[in-house]
Amino acid sequence: MLPLKEKDKPIVQKLLSAGCCARCILRFCCTRVQAAYRQPEQETLKELLAFISNPQDPAALESNGDNKSHDAAVSESTGDNNPHDAAEDPPSKRAKLEPSETTAGSEEKEEDAAAKSRVCVVCLGILQEFCDTAQAVKIAEAVKAEKYEFDSVMCSVSLPAQLCVREHSCWLHVKKEVRDKILVLDKDDIIPLKEAFKWVVQGLVSKGLGGVAMVNKGGLEVGVEFTHEATDADCHFLASVCPDCFKPGKKKQSVFTRMAVVKALEKISEAKFLKHYPCPPTRTSSCCSLQGVQCLHVSLFIAGRYNKFSRTLPQTPWLIDGERRMESSVEELIGASVLSSFRAEGFNFSSSGREDVDVRTLGNGRPFAMELLNPHRSRLSRAEMKQLQETINESSDKIRVRDLQIVSRDAMSRMKEGEEEKTKSYTALVWTRKPIQSDDIIFIDDIKELTLDQKTPLRVLHRRALAVRQRVVHSMSARFLDQHHFHLELKTQAGTYIKEFVHGDFGRTKPNLCELLQTDTDILELDVESVDVDWPPAIPE
Ligand code: ZN
Repeated sequence: MLPLKEKDKPIVQKLLSAGCCARCILRFCCTRVQAAYRQPEQETLKELLAFISNPQDPAALESNGDNKSHDAAVSESTGDNNPHDAAEDPPSKRAKLEPSETTAGSEEKEEDAAAKSRVCVVCLGILQEFCDTAQAVKIAEAVKAEKYEFDSVMCSVSLPAQLCVREHSCWLHVKKEVRDKILVLDKDDIIPLKEAFKWVVQGLVSKGLGGVAMVNKGGLEVGVEFTHEATDADCHFLASVCPDCFKPGKKKQSVFTRMAVVKALEKISEAKFLKHYPCPPTRTSSCCSLQGVQCLHVSLFIAGRYNKFSRTLPQTPWLIDGERRMESSVEELIGASVLSSFRAEGFNFSSSGREDVDVRTLGNGRPFAMELLNPHRSRLSRAEMKQLQETINESSDKIRVRDLQIVSRDAMSRMKEGEEEKTKSYTALVWTRKPIQSDDIIFIDDIKELTLDQKTPLRVLHRRALAVRQRVVHSMSARFLDQHHFHLELKTQAGTYIKEFVHGDFGRTKPNLCELLQTDTDILELDVESVDVDWPPAIPE
């Protein structure tokens, strides 16, 4: 039994005459009983016909009194709002065209085929031809062929934009009737086509994939795309009526995106719509076609710490005017093995701060995280992650990775949290013009909590706004090397420009080491000794 009420009768009747499929009719009756959509469409159609021909109260008897045959209701011609007339008179077009079929032109033949067509005027066959087990198995096979690892599947459906126009037209078609009978039907109450499609197909696809869970978010997204070229022009009148809804975009192939069409339909008046577009929509002889099945696995996040042992290795690919300056980068050295292990399509790399190309990162390393895009593998065990880490470490002596692990998207934000407040330790190799005295070493070792005013360094001014920022040098200690060289160990607030503190950057950092030691000083080498961010958690070796 279909979960329909007496008030739905006129809607069912009108939509059947207009050439709607049984499932679209359920949608327009706002039926949320999923089982009703899942039964075979022909079954539902039979029940609908029985429903409208079975008067339940005297009022219904009065208005829909004739017990018309099922076939007559199905084959009713287009555009006739009165079911009585339609049932009695055979569609005139068919009667005229059928005998002369051999001499008719192809256009007429097409019209003829369209008139006879059972293809739903609203969903253009999506809820008719694409809702059975055979179609679901096809989708499931396409997914299997991609060899993903997944725990759950999310279905997404892309429909031709003109279906919105057709649905709008059908809605206007029943709205009149509904208003006359003072029934309440809001366009938003109609069950969206996508939703109805998923109700029917998701379960079948899940079965085809061995009973995997179907979810609304996350997991493996299985996208099915439908097109219907023959009716693409349905949308075109909207561009002349609402030109500002259809601004040409840079990448988009067509201006008639679903979003733009929906927006235009919200703006257009009923009268204008009816002037330009038939109500109900015209029939067509062909169904939508399934363009393909696209799989997209939700991003996976991994994190770890890296050391960088090279002074000629940038953290990210270094390009100037599109040309590479260095042959590799930290993220590429790590990324290559990670991508192939997870069979991902790409990645986004982020880290807790970054070092210059000529700066090494030693100690426990710098926390980093990677978002893996469309990973085909997602279930690496601890042992496999360890193996991956070893593979990375064996692939290059310029970097080393530790604590490699899979993390959640939320956990990633922990890396950036309070980054500015963190402490970082450095070792700088410093040159001085004046010979270094033992007093200088003591003087440096005694400096604590020194606040610097740092104007944006000249070397980064081309990509950062000019500003003065304050950073604190918590402590320093100097190790004498020879009369003109010493190692300077610093503990500073994250974000301190160390090089500028040492050479002064033409007085843009104040105070600086030149001022403090009253001689020219320069920085020859710099190492990051530690980045004190306690994320990601350390993994015991
Ligand atoms: Zn339909």
